[in-house]
Amino acid sequence: MSSNGKVEKVIIIGSGPAGWTAALYAARANLSPLVFAGRPKTVPTTILPGGQLMMTTEVENYPGFPEGVTGPKLMSYFEQQAMRFDTRIVTDKGMTPDVSNADDGHSYSYHDCKRVDLSKRPFLVVGEDDTEYHAHSVIIATGATANWLGLDNEKRLAMSGGGVSACAVCDGALPVFRDKVLGVVGGGDSAVEEASYLTKFASKVVMIHRRDQLRASKIMAQRAKDNPKIEFAWNKTVSDVLGDDMITGVTLKDTKTGEQSTMELGGLFMAIGHTPATEFLEGQLQLDEKKYIKLADPYRSTTSVEGVFGAGDCVDSVYRQAVTAAGMGCKAAIDAERWLADQGVE
Ligand code: NAP
Repeated sequence: MSSNGKVEKVIIIGSGPAGWTAALYAARANLSPLVFAGRPKTVPTTILPGGQLMMTTEVENYPGFPEGVTGPKLMSYFEQQAMRFDTRIVTDKGMTPDVSNADDGHSYSYHDCKRVDLSKRPFLVVGEDDTEYHAHSVIIATGATANWLGLDNEKRLAMSGGGVSACAVCDGALPVFRDKVLGVVGGGDSAVEEASYLTKFASKVVMIHRRDQLRASKIMAQRAKDNPKIEFAWNKTVSDVLGDDMITGVTLKDTKTGEQSTMELGGLFMAIGHTPATEFLEGQLQLDEKKYIKLADPYRSTTSVEGVFGAGDCVDSVYRQAVTAAGMGCKAAIDAERWLADQGVE
């Protein structure tokens, strides 16, 4: 199936802070962006249009919201602001849905992008129903998903604000974690960083690691070991998360002996890596060894393919914040606009 032969000025794939900010800037530059906002998925954990903030209860570090804002509300504002201008979204019910009550749920579904062909211009973007769209430029803002252990109770408590999270910077300062014993799962740099950050609020932080040695860089590992508020549970995996409305602890399994034990905790933070949503770009764009999109210039949003721009967590394994993703979305739209002008597309 093919669309009506029209070539879009810019197609944006992704609907987190980077995608909606790119749409906002592109729409205000009269590029009439077309957005693939993505369909909710539940495998392996829930992924919603709007990205990782849809899994976050209270956001206290997005500037401009002195009282804080919930993740879904914030993403609804992003979406509504992009739609106030000439942004279109690919949905079951046409291309310009009413999103005024986006945070209360939609009566239609957003479509996924199934495949792209970036080998020739105009670029080809294929929707989930095999409709083909063509575009002079493409902004990829598909984000990354935090890795989770995959336990039922972990997911339930993460989604209900029950003290399980995959982002200490996002959630660690919430009152519910104050003066509690908190667990951090993982042994990499992120785990150390999250554990160190959490010591500002917690009475104690226990790093739960499946081996007896941290993966983190030496300097980071030493920082964790030197911190009197950080303890280690070596050779342990979390086999269950305990608690009804709020986490009360975890069941641990010793990776050497198989022995099970229980640890009381007032909060649990996963730091077992992220996976960028770039699978559909294999062979189309240069990715790094961890599958993040490689930027052609670290200060820009340009990629290995001219006319294709990257923004947000799918290019960023370091900062991974909503505000940095939004800033990158802005850069990508400006880069796309300038590139299109150079190509004579206005
Ligand atoms: P990472 O280096 O891949 O570490 C992931 C950790 O999670 C590892 O310790 C791993 O255990 C553990 N893990 C993975 N799957 C697990 C599972 N199913 N159950 C239990 N444990 C599991 O990821 P990261 O820490 O997010 O770092 C990603 C990249 O960003 C790295 O290159 C890192 O250096 C960089 N980074 C740098 C900084 C900094 O310099 N300030 C901060 C954050 C991240 P094993 O060790 O046994 O594999």
